Amino acid sequence: MEMPVKCSRCRASYSEIYIPYMRQYLCIDCFNKFFESRIVKTVEKYRMLSRGDYIGVGLSGGKDSTALLTVLKKYFPDKRYIAIHLHHGIYDYSEDSLRAARELAESLDVELHVFRYSDEIGITIPDVKKTKYGRKICATCGTIRRWALSKAARELGVDILATGHNLDDTLEIMLNAFIAGDYESIRRLRPVLPPSPPNNYWKVKPLINTPEYEVLLYVMFNGLPVKRIDCPFAEDARSLRRKEILRLWEEREPMIKFQLFGSFMKKLIPLLDRVEEEGEPVEYRVCRVCGGPSSGEVCSACRRIEYVKRLVIERRR
Ligand SMILES: [Zn+2]
Ligand SMILES: [Zn+2]
Repeated sequence: MEMPVKCSRCRASYSEIYIPYMRQYLCIDCFNKFFESRIVKTVEKYRMLSRGDYIGVGLSGGKDSTALLTVLKKYFPDKRYIAIHLHHGIYDYSEDSLRAARELAESLDVELHVFRYSDEIGITIPDVKKTKYGRKICATCGTIRRWALSKAARELGVDILATGHNLDDTLEIMLNAFIAGDYESIRRLRPVLPPSPPNNYWKVKPLINTPEYEVLLYVMFNGLPVKRIDCPFAEDARSLRRKEILRLWEEREPMIKFQLFGSFMKKLIPLLDRVEEEGEPVEYRVCRVCGGPSSGEVCSACRRIEYVKRLVIERRR
């Protein structure tokens, strides 16, 4: 057995975790402080909450959004929060996710808004699974999820929408976007995104430089309520593989994730900003069906939802 090691910060308690990129052993208290203060610094550095007082937080019942809402409420208690939970209608998985979200919202005294697919759009993710979109269910589910969150945030009239994207999510999307040459996805990775009309809220990602593994530890150490069931449709092998590659890379170079993130923020973002300033002004269009932002007459989420709906209604006949 390894010898217990004293915490590198307080030198009083025994450490529970080693942070390789800092070469520090931390006790639970010092880890919590370290974890929370990075989020607070990120919020302040990018002025994430300075654009309004009514904050929507996407709360899935997963570890990231659970940690996010906990830290925001603790350090920025004067803001008004509403937790937005999307209920996908995926059997026990969705019930368990809602249970975790509700438990957290109640314990923090935050209002919970449940956007139930079956009520709001008339179909569920299992309905989507039965169609041609079923083979790429995670991608379609992601499109509908972003659309539903944006619709709920618009209708609730929040000033800011905060989501729980962590460092690993960000880098994984970044790698995919580089490989596919997908400029739009790279642009969306910014820590702060201005309103895209007709939406008039800002989008912020306070966990953007927090490693996924540390979010997991924070939730565990603090006994926060999270869902216990995995999505039965999860198939995103590619995303897991790319995250695994990042993990292996990190074993050789402990700083790599922060280096990638740092050059993204310092080099790539200013470049993108310049390209955008010089390019054609963005034309904002409104979806004829949902009234949300769209690149065409009908947004891609509405096109998919309408297609699935038609099939579901036909089958019910
Ligand atoms: Zn300590
Ligand atoms: Zn639409």
